[in-house]
Amino acid sequence: MPARLLLAGAGHAHLHLLHRAAALRAAGLAPVLISPARFHYSGLAGAVLAGALPESANTVDVAALAAARGVPHLDGLLERVDTAARRAWLADGRWMDFDLASFNLGSVAAAPAALLDAPGVWAVKPLGGLATLRRRLVAEIEARERCPALVVAGGGASAHEVAASLAALARRHGVAPRVALLGPAPGGKDGWAPPAALRTLRRNLAGQGIALVEGRAVARRPGACVLEDGTDLPCDMLVLATGLRAHALVAELGLPVDARGRLRLTSALHSVADPAIFAAGDCAVVEGHPRPMVGVFGVRAAPVLHHNLAVHAAGGKPAAFRPQRRWLAILDLGDGTGLAARGRLWWHGRAALWLKRRLDLGFVRRMRAAGEAQP
Ligand SMILES: Cc1cc2nc3c(=O)[nH]c(=O)nc-3n(C[C@H](O)[C@H](O)[C@H](O)COP(=O)(O)OP(=O)(O)OC[C@H]3O[C@@H](n4cnc5c(N)ncnc54)[C@H](O)[C@@H]3O)c2cc1C
Repeated sequence: MPARLLLAGAGHAHLHLLHRAAALRAAGLAPVLISPARFHYSGLAGAVLAGALPESANTVDVAALAAARGVPHLDGLLERVDTAARRAWLADGRWMDFDLASFNLGSVAAAPAALLDAPGVWAVKPLGGLATLRRRLVAEIEARERCPALVVAGGGASAHEVAASLAALARRHGVAPRVALLGPAPGGKDGWAPPAALRTLRRNLAGQGIALVEGRAVARRPGACVLEDGTDLPCDMLVLATGLRAHALVAELGLPVDARGRLRLTSALHSVADPAIFAAGDCAVVEGHPRPMVGVFGVRAAPVLHHNLAVHAAGGKPAAFRPQRRWLAILDLGDGTGLAARGRLWWHGRAALWLKRRLDLGFVRRMRAAGEAQP
């Protein structure tokens, strides 16, 4: 009897596993995927929000990929997992038993519920929501013939990219952007880009008419966003890019997690407490190698995850995943330029955006092709 393998979520690493499902079956595993039918790729999320690419440009049909690779797919959201009983339930009541599981559920926006649940508030994750935000904003611009007051809260890469994308969307629809980026003073300890790159980035955003406001949003009032010092910032739509945390389900597995709710893994990519529970991507962290939540780590972990799942079933030596210390990040600045950074190196210009498009469109094209091809 093959061992039943639950693939929870169709993030970057699991797309790779689907691609190479035949080898998993050959090793004695019977994979089953639980996930929504559509995957939204973050590398192109900014371009989609800006209206530079069509809404469908960053989606991959996971159902087609699973079908082409002979992997049964339960289309829906996983809601609960009993790791001791080895049983998983979907939100619609369906359930499946498994022998081993792998989680690639990604992350959600980290923000106080009072803000997340307030009217006129959008979170950057799940990414599918950004296409809805784009439609809503376009409708508002067409109805009012001016840009509503937009505030993007956050100080990291995605906050800067989303602010630039919103400004580009306004320009594309013939109105002047009214966008404020609300966050901490740059150059803090987060260090997601070298200080000179951050200065260039913020100069570029300011040049696009984006207001750079220091502060933190704590509440919403009609037409305004309330800052922690009690002042109001004009705001019709508030976008929260205030950080990410692992999908909530991971902390409910009853296994050790870190402060951001990520499953703590050995370098073999299984839980430090349960060798039959594997994970990769934003919802996991390798002990001793904490890294920010960016897509590259799920992509790089994928071949190791594939190998170690096969080895778990067929026997053999697991491989060790050591997440890299430096990685390439490229922001789409919405004005035809990109800002690229890798460790202390960085550059800004059209070539950076050209490279980003090439890499990101290539990823989506490969995943779509895998959904059309036979194994
Ligand atoms: C605006 C923005 C731009 C970004 N740009 C970049 C970038 O250019 N480059 C980069 O490296 N990173 C970028 N990131 C970060 C990136 O989004 C994440 O690091 C990356 O998506 C994480 O990949 P993952 O494979 O862990 O999960 P994800 O890609 O988030 O995939 C998670 C999967 O789980 C599924 N899922 C979710 N909930 C359930 C459930 N309950 N049941 C079943 N399935 C479920 C989802 O449908 C999805 O298929 C960006 C983030 C944001 C917010």
